Amino acid sequence: MYTPILDAEEFLSPTGKVVCVGRNYAAHAAELNNPVPQQPLLFIKPADAVVDMAGEFAIPTGQGSVHYELEIALLLGKKLKNADAAQALAAIAGVGLALDLTLRDVQSGLKDKAHPWERAKAFDGSCPVSPFVSASKVTDWANIGLQLDINGASRQDGSSAAMLFPIAELLVEMSRCFTLNPGDIIITGTPEGVGELKVGDAVQARLQDWLSVDGVVTAAE
Ligand code: ZN
Repeated sequence: MYTPILDAEEFLSPTGKVVCVGRNYAAHAAELNNPVPQQPLLFIKPADAVVDMAGEFAIPTGQGSVHYELEIALLLGKKLKNADAAQALAAIAGVGLALDLTLRDVQSGLKDKAHPWERAKAFDGSCPVSPFVSASKVTDWANIGLQLDINGASRQDGSSAAMLFPIAELLVEMSRCFTLNPGDIIITGTPEGVGELKVGDAVQARLQDWLSVDGVVTAAE
């Protein structure tokens, strides 16, 4: 099981679950022809989804296209249940990046049948994460930039300023649905520019000037 890295040290708790939100940026909802949700569209990835983004990470083969979605990730240091906004922000120990890997063709088939998304989004290794930096670096949760390059070309360049449900509001809503525990990771939705990831691709993800992570895509066994 993956143990997150916070400020270059192993975090006190291994990863629990990953709580995720779909369609939290209007331009991304539009690029996939999805309506903008009235309340956050929440889903969960299990602990085995989480792997290290740095170095190498593997994607499934033989199941159609795998899409990258770069997202701001939050590492929780405190338990949250029915939290208010101040409690929610105070529970964030670290901020980093995650890829919400998505088997897009599988997801399209599931959507057509109104089936749940786990086969497309919650498989082992479906959430590569960066190391985390202390949340004390953040002065404005509504102004955090994230960027993704693949093979040296810019693919995603966004900011938390464009989130439909801002970070505090998201955590409040998530904590009404699920008890959030230390070691849980929250991913906050992807800006526009999603696309296919292929074996052999070189990925570079950046969060402000706080961190930069390089990973190479391999094939899952
Ligand atoms: Zn996503």
